[in-house]
Amino acid sequence: MSKIVVLGGGESGVGAALLAKHEGFDVFLSDQGQLKPEYQQSLLDAQIPFEQGSHSMDKILDAQEIIISPGIPEKSPIVKEIKHKNISLVSEIEFASRYTQAKIIAITGSNGKTTTTLLTYHLLKDAGLKVGLAGNIGHSFAKQVMENQHDYYVLEISSFQLDRCFQFAPDVAVLLNITPDHLDRYEYQFENYIQSKFRIFQNAKPNTTCIFWSGDPVLQSHASSLPHQAQVRTISFDDDTADMLIQQHDIKGSSHFQLALDNAPLKGPHNAINMSAAILAAEAVGISAESIHQSLLTFENAPHRLEPCGHWKGIQFINDSKATNVDAVFYALNSFKQPIILLIGGVDKGNEYEVLDDLVKEKVKGIICLGTDNQKLVSHFGPICSSLFSTDKLQSAVQKSLEWGQSGDIVLLSPACASFDLFKNYEDRGNQFKAMVKTLTDGK
Ligand code: ADP
Repeated sequence: MSKIVVLGGGESGVGAALLAKHEGFDVFLSDQGQLKPEYQQSLLDAQIPFEQGSHSMDKILDAQEIIISPGIPEKSPIVKEIKHKNISLVSEIEFASRYTQAKIIAITGSNGKTTTTLLTYHLLKDAGLKVGLAGNIGHSFAKQVMENQHDYYVLEISSFQLDRCFQFAPDVAVLLNITPDHLDRYEYQFENYIQSKFRIFQNAKPNTTCIFWSGDPVLQSHASSLPHQAQVRTISFDDDTADMLIQQHDIKGSSHFQLALDNAPLKGPHNAINMSAAILAAEAVGISAESIHQSLLTFENAPHRLEPCGHWKGIQFINDSKATNVDAVFYALNSFKQPIILLIGGVDKGNEYEVLDDLVKEKVKGIICLGTDNQKLVSHFGPICSSLFSTDKLQSAVQKSLEWGQSGDIVLLSPACASFDLFKNYEDRGNQFKAMVKTLTDGK
């Protein structure tokens, strides 16, 4: 019997192990950390042997194929050794896609993946299709392939998953944008990360629908890497109408879908791109413009993405904790016309803040740096923003925003950085921010 090893016992790894066992493989799972009790139970129930706290290299290198968690970097010693032995190394997405006939919509990009994936899923589900939601979000794709009879899957795909995809051929492939992120995993070479993102199109066939934002500078400069043998749908905006209207045209150029952005469920220019992508993806699987219009009315985005979280004396508080890179902050600043007090900081992933300079000068009346090491932010923004405050305490940060804020201002948490210097993760950061805003403003 062919041996499969799964590295990493999180949602995707355990799901992959269950599917592999179900498909008749001899499966072993190995995780250097500790597995959650419910995952241990699932493996025990399925009689899948596993280890935690260490990697037994002899067992791992005995596999014919290894399914790797996206959290394990390419440069880790274990991956180096596996590559050295030439053992097939794939992602859960690559593995599970072999065992389903369902149509797959795969969505990637540096920013907007979750929003676009959730909206696309909502449009399909609301239209009555049997659809699953997976990838970087929700329950394991592999487990759903094993348990469910979905006709469609909407998958949020990260670059780490794409790095280990080879034959994966989604029916609809969406690439929203490419801006620098995760460069620590790509030898600090932006080009490596770009090539990873383009893998979403690597198996596009003539009947694959490929959707991308044609205004993205990186996609423009890499036009030769874009799919040519495919049903290409591009998202573009007429500069004059970009703020007001989403319009989709058919091949003959006549408009068949229009949405006034004032009536749209998501605000900001970046969300116009996300909504267009989701609408094009839904149309690609045959959903009518009428059904899409209806469903848009009932969409609610996930929290921590430009999430309004309170009002106090005319000041509006926005939680954008999921903005973990500079591009997301760029769009957050662009989404408001009011003066902004910006809370920024955390673990810097090799950020270059220059792209924010013009917007900061134009819109930001104060910057509050929140992190254990704010040096880079202070020296960058100090010279261009007259009010700057540096702290490693959330309470002091929110307190300062209340001191500075006046009626009509926006207090925006949009950190551009990872959260794990002061918080467990971006959700924890967003939740603590919302709670602190409430505590400091309630009844005052
Ligand atoms: P992802 O899953 O790619 O991280 P999310 O939908 O969770 O994307 O959004 C992450 C952050 O990026 C949020 O701060 C959000 O406001 C911002 N954002 C969403 N869509 C875009 C986009 N198309 N371009 C730039 N920033 C975006």
